[in-house]
Amino acid sequence: MTAPHPLSDPTTGTGIPQTVERMRRVFDGGTTRPYAWRRRQLEGLGRLLAEQRVALAEAIDADLRRGRFESAMFDVAPTAAEVRHAIKHLRGWMRPQRVPTPLAVQPGSSRVLREPLGVALIISPWNYPVHLALAPLVAALAAGNCAVLKPSELTPTVSAVLARLLPEYVEGVAVVEGGPDETMQLIDQGLDHVFFTGSPGVGRIVAAAAAQHLTPVTLELGGKSPAVVTRSSNLRVAARRILFGKLINSGQTCIAPDYVLVERSVRDEFLGHLDAVATEFTERRALPVLSAKHAERLSDLLAGADGQLLRGGPADADLLTMPFSVVVDPAADSALMSEEIFGPILPVVTVDDLDDAIARIRSGSRPLAAYLFTRDGRQRERFLARVSAGGVAVNHTVLHLQVPGLPFGGVGTSGTGSYHGRWGFEAFSHRKGVLRQTDRIDPPLLYPPYVGHKRRLLEKAL
Ligand code: NAD
Repeated sequence: MTAPHPLSDPTTGTGIPQTVERMRRVFDGGTTRPYAWRRRQLEGLGRLLAEQRVALAEAIDADLRRGRFESAMFDVAPTAAEVRHAIKHLRGWMRPQRVPTPLAVQPGSSRVLREPLGVALIISPWNYPVHLALAPLVAALAAGNCAVLKPSELTPTVSAVLARLLPEYVEGVAVVEGGPDETMQLIDQGLDHVFFTGSPGVGRIVAAAAAQHLTPVTLELGGKSPAVVTRSSNLRVAARRILFGKLINSGQTCIAPDYVLVERSVRDEFLGHLDAVATEFTERRALPVLSAKHAERLSDLLAGADGQLLRGGPADADLLTMPFSVVVDPAADSALMSEEIFGPILPVVTVDDLDDAIARIRSGSRPLAAYLFTRDGRQRERFLARVSAGGVAVNHTVLHLQVPGLPFGGVGTSGTGSYHGRWGFEAFSHRKGVLRQTDRIDPPLLYPPYVGHKRRLLEKAL
């Protein structure tokens, strides 16, 4: 018997349908379900991050000019932490969960089993090209899935490095490089889950395409995350922590503080700190931005802001840099105050008090993150009760992302679903409810006809 021609065998070849089919076969073979397989893949990811740390940091630097140290610190290290956490807790996460069985269903026992969804598609953006590709992959593999990873076409060096290295360290993972066309083709394969990180606009397109196949989605999106500075805060510390979160990766961070709302009575003092800290942190250097297109968009946002420019200025579309810029009280209807900035511009808006700040936040879309600077516990509780956001940090910015026990995700237009730690395991698992009964006894109470003594008993029970 002659072997089938390579092109007639759906599992060979590098096309998208063949790649997905290959992953399906791996999943259907059942090898991905046991603890040992999952653990081996997580250890493989851990080794990849340790052994290829320099190669990954260099690739990020080549695509984003972020510097190797910052690339390792903000992309590689948090991913390695996610891997360690998953390895430590995997057995506990996989353990069946017993739940009470009500009297009417006795004698029996009830359990919730977490089972893998199948082949998951992970679509990642360009701004943290290693972390946002591999952190969802940690969750997918921990939950016993196969995965197809589609990194961003805007970070081609990282995408190529991931495509080359991942198969050397893990099984059950394929990387498809490309942009929107490849993304849509992948979704059209009708995979078992789509985990998308990116902009709300593309999130809508992805969710609509996935809906055609009833493929469930997790959407990790963006938006305008506010930082509120009250007069009962340490203004210098607030300025340092807001700029820490804003300046990482030149403000190209989904949970960067997008804009500040500061109480009128402390505004000028806060701005003084902000200016001094900005000079200290940036060493007066302009910051790298992704591309000429992004540089032009940021310059346009600044030009149309119609407020007072405290520092900074337009981006340089040739050098692909922009000085850190602060705009005080821009027009409320400017693009700067309605679009996600995603770059090194910080609007500072004066408000009367905390309630004014809360009302302004509530008038917009629900943000991915919200930050509050206060020492007043009642203010903190009011803020938490009134502001709906994906996550909140009080008296800091961005760091809530580093707590593996906290779910990370958005709400409303900033996203659907969450991950990190156990929450990621849950995002990639189906919770299968199982009732087990015995056939050794068979009480007649449940069965028709419902008459006489049986009926009276059942009427009482209902
Ligand atoms: P993006 O939405 O443009 O792209 C994300 C992914 O979608 C990429 O892989 C890209 O190839 C693909 N894509 C782009 N256009 C598409 C289309 N028309 N059809 C199908 N697929 C398409 O996002 P980006 O510019 O790479 O990243 C920035 C955005 O991502 C910001 O809004 C930011 O807030 C958000 N973000 C969110 C998180 C989070 O964890 N919630 C993290 C990082 C970034």
